[in-house]
Amino acid sequence: MEHCANHPNRKAISVCHNCGEAYCEACLVEGNEYYYCRKPACQDTMRLESAASLLPEVIICPSCSSELRLAKEERVARIFHCPECEAYLDFTVNPPMVLKDKKYTEVFSSRNQGDIALLKSFLDDSDIDYYVSGEDFLAVYPLIQPAKFFVRDDQVDEAKGLLKEFNANLFGVSRRKNLEE
Ligand SMILES: [Zn+2]
Ligand SMILES: [Zn+2]
Ligand SMILES: [Zn+2]
Repeated sequence: MEHCANHPNRKAISVCHNCGEAYCEACLVEGNEYYYCRKPACQDTMRLESAASLLPEVIICPSCSSELRLAKEERVARIFHCPECEAYLDFTVNPPMVLKDKKYTEVFSSRNQGDIALLKSFLDDSDIDYYVSGEDFLAVYPLIQPAKFFVRDDQVDEAKGLLKEFNANLFGVSRRKNLEE
């Protein structure tokens, strides 16, 4: 019996369909048809292979009803910007979220749930109008798609000031990516 590539003391139950290595139950994620391990490359493959998680090639913008042809990355990411009406469309939620009237700018992205929660409470205390995309997504597919914080265009400077403060309040090894840098 093979043992898990991550846990030499555990028996492997199956192999990752992408990299072929054997893993225990805890290290595998069940895709539509196959098991995949948690390595980012293998998780990407899992998502590409499971058509259910991909957006179709052509969608109708829920905001302006334009027909949009999506790039592969957009189909995977499920969050993109409509070139016709300039809306940000977030298809990670159902129904899709449309941010039409206001323009939002991404100011921060993170895969770290702790940072995300902290930053949210930080922003909740401010008057900044923000939204987080990809959060649900993060819970389902950790490590692939970071949660992204968007703030209203006219508040970007204010938000960046707050982010500086926020960053100063954090210490330790940073797993964050501050887009400002
Ligand atoms: Zn793998
Ligand atoms: Zn394992
Ligand atoms: Zn549109």
